[in-house]
Amino acid sequence: MTGNPGPSPPVRILTAATIVTAFSEPRVLDHGAVAWQGERILAVGDAGELIAQHPDAAILDGSGGMVLPGLVNLHHHFYSSLARGLDPGRRLGDFGEILDGLWWRLDRALDRDTIRLSAELALADSIRSGVTTVFDHHASPSLIGGSLEIIAEAVERAGLAAVLCYEITDRNGHEDAIEGLNENLAFSESRRHDARVRGMLGFHASFTVDDATLRAAADARLAGMGCHIHVAEDALDLRMSHVVYGAAPLQRLDRHGLIDDRTLAVHCTHLGSDDRQLLAERGAVIVHNPESNANNGVGRLDLDGAAADGCRVGLGTDGMSSAMLGSLRAAFLAVRGGRRDPTAGFVVVPEMLAVNAEVAGRFLDEPGLGRLEAGAPADFCVLDSAPPTPVTPGNVFAHLVYGSAGSPVRHTVARGRVVMEDHRLTTVDAAATAAEARAAAPALWERFHALGVSRPEWLPTKE
Ligand SMILES: [Zn+2]
Repeated sequence: MTGNPGPSPPVRILTAATIVTAFSEPRVLDHGAVAWQGERILAVGDAGELIAQHPDAAILDGSGGMVLPGLVNLHHHFYSSLARGLDPGRRLGDFGEILDGLWWRLDRALDRDTIRLSAELALADSIRSGVTTVFDHHASPSLIGGSLEIIAEAVERAGLAAVLCYEITDRNGHEDAIEGLNENLAFSESRRHDARVRGMLGFHASFTVDDATLRAAADARLAGMGCHIHVAEDALDLRMSHVVYGAAPLQRLDRHGLIDDRTLAVHCTHLGSDDRQLLAERGAVIVHNPESNANNGVGRLDLDGAAADGCRVGLGTDGMSSAMLGSLRAAFLAVRGGRRDPTAGFVVVPEMLAVNAEVAGRFLDEPGLGRLEAGAPADFCVLDSAPPTPVTPGNVFAHLVYGSAGSPVRHTVARGRVVMEDHRLTTVDAAATAAEARAAAPALWERFHALGVSRPEWLPTKE
């Protein structure tokens, strides 16, 4: 039997734009073009030359735009989408009250339809923000088994790539914790060779996961299955880990062999130097979420300290939004504002998007992810941002934080598919999704209010 590969997919060319080929050591091309075929980039170069080489290629007009590699969000919570405008009906006076008065009620109120809708809303916003790969951290205690597949199918319909996990926690009892573990394991196994959607091991945070659960997860986790966990977001995590389990969050994870180069340690706001050095030694990545940290009033990550300790730091939105360039700008401004230092912010922060791309490339077995070069996944976005001054490899970050980060995204291309063209989403019916969400939100909020608040007895009241 002879193989018949079938017709090759057509070549497409994005033309006439300022192209930044990476977030670390980029090439910058004026009047450049990106040619791609199927899911892969064929070439990045001079627009005239590429059009001459591929005269039949369909053209995507990028004129007056700035092209960046598709953005990666290293920490999102799709499930928070329908919380916007929700009145918790009580004062959320500290981090514990934000959890048990808001998030731990909302996630319990989620059902199949609102899990799907929440994902669809966040994915649409991600596309609008030029994001092509998302790491999501999911919780829906009333529907654990199969919840990640609901999200994965939404990711596939949207045309993006994602690494998904379920937040294992004992806060609803040990049975639920094990069900969360099993959901991570089953999903990761089923997507082990998937090109665009993979699984990993999710934990809520040290202070809500008991030792038996950590041990069970460490014993059962699949080879190469990284951990995605909130670490020291608030001092509460440190205090309760010590009080209830007799050890600090990272020491608890480390005892079970859960810190390695596939660990995403989210926040790390309250870690000291010793802990950060442990993360650096193991090759773990800190995921910084500056907007969420400010919103929750939990403090700021010491980026200089993290850099001095050798940590690699990536960037997420933590469900606050899906806009990575907004998060990048917030990270930059938080450093300057927090330190009252107008010279700060040009170390660590400029590397975050490159760290995100490298991590995503490892989890998805796509080493070229985040670089616009031949053979890499065709993931990129085009900002409506004609640079007013020359763009050089050394000033891309300045262009972003002093203007382009706030520019609308005109086109988003994910794995070769134009998922937004001229500001119009092509894979998501945004108006229908928004209408469905507005219709579903009141019932979700009713379930939320009916759940009331009962602070777990092990969670202390504010000191
Ligand atoms: Zn989070």
